[in-house]
Amino acid sequence: MKTKKFLLNENDIPESWYNVVADMAVKPRPLIHPATGKPIEVDDLVPLFSREASKQELNTTDRWIEIPEVVREAYRMWRPTPLVRAAGLEKLLDTPAHIYFKNESVSPVGSHKLNSAIAQAYYCKQEGVTNITTETGAGQWGAALSLAAKYFGLELAVYMVKISYEQKPYRRSMMRTFGAEVIASPSMSTKAGRKIITERPNYQGSLGTAISEAVELAMSTPNCKYVLGSVLNHVALHQTVIGLEAEKQMEMAGEYPDMVVACFGGGSNFSGLAFPFLRHKIDGSKPSTQFIAAEPASCPKLTRGKFVYDFGDEAGYTPLIPMYSLGHEFKPANIHAGGLRYHGAGSIVSQLIHDKLIEAVDIPQLETFEAATMFARAEGIVPAPESSHAIAAVIREALKAREAGQKKVILFNLSGHGLIDMAAYDRYFAGDLRNYEVPDADIKDGVKSLE
Ligand SMILES: *Cc1c(COP(=O)(O)O)cnc(C)c1O
Repeated sequence: MKTKKFLLNENDIPESWYNVVADMAVKPRPLIHPATGKPIEVDDLVPLFSREASKQELNTTDRWIEIPEVVREAYRMWRPTPLVRAAGLEKLLDTPAHIYFKNESVSPVGSHKLNSAIAQAYYCKQEGVTNITTETGAGQWGAALSLAAKYFGLELAVYMVKISYEQKPYRRSMMRTFGAEVIASPSMSTKAGRKIITERPNYQGSLGTAISEAVELAMSTPNCKYVLGSVLNHVALHQTVIGLEAEKQMEMAGEYPDMVVACFGGGSNFSGLAFPFLRHKIDGSKPSTQFIAAEPASCPKLTRGKFVYDFGDEAGYTPLIPMYSLGHEFKPANIHAGGLRYHGAGSIVSQLIHDKLIEAVDIPQLETFEAATMFARAEGIVPAPESSHAIAAVIREALKAREAGQKKVILFNLSGHGLIDMAAYDRYFAGDLRNYEVPDADIKDGVKSLE
């Protein structure tokens, strides 16, 4: 094998994002206003989000949405990202499978999250916003938005899930380096935070709680908008640059994936890689491609959650979202893949799972670190604990291909690197990590059944 790395040049950065909703035969159910029970309209979202993001959120008709030139210019900081044939991993596994990964870890903040952070910060700036708020789990989204905010001259306040604030101090430092204010969540600075601290003084925080705090601050501060790093349709849309580039790069490699795999928190990196390939399954030209979302066994909304209308946050400030959910009050275990500790899945992915166009697997924590270590030794890149869920799923499939003596082409997203997560690796090597099974009794029905 000669070429291992497939590189595009700057002119190959896509000119449009791909909106899969336009092509879906069964559209996702609408977001619902909790007070009126009616479908959400653009004007309902605008108090919270930029108008452009609000419009994109509800756009079900335009297949392609132009990427503003200023955003493409910012993307040139690190895009296009490489597609790599994981020859070392193939050899280690002694598999006939061909494994490729799209390397989103090369962004300045080390993950895919900057793809949407740049776009959302740009729209806020365009619309005259001065301040933005957000939440962050492991800190990748916060770090990405800190850089994007600085790039466009916005002030940013980040609510960071307390467990990560304490366990992952370096992402906190990175956010401060880029000029953001970082607050551990739950905090005493919001009503939602005070309520949960009073009820559960030792609570280590969750994305759901941090979202409530960031939303509350945005709603109560003039000229301030809230920016979300996953789950919502417009975030998935911005991430499609990943799959659109990968499509060209797979062509350069002369192959088409039989399987497209990514880890799953709220669904943005999975959607970003998968949707551009999914369009060929929807139009019937590539009917047999499998799409696999890899989630943690400790937070199994896709494999064990219910398809319900649920809130996106703990306090219930967001619209009701049609999602596979564990219930918005679900308290995930403190696994190291902080970016995957979220109770629900975005509405597009939820509909696609429901309609069996994509599938999901859940992976226990120890298997993800075992996979991460194998990948690091074979490929020379230390993966993020989140991305390691995708790697573990790929390894399962590559071993199945070996059993069956089948050549499978597998493409996965390396959503980020783990160089700021080395403490988690140390704990793994010390034997301090364990698996967390979720008892059936902890899986709630959410608020409002769809059926
Ligand atoms: C945030 C994050 C995830 C999970 O979020 P999605 O929206 O599901 O993509 C996965 N990997 C990395 C590296 C992350 O930072």
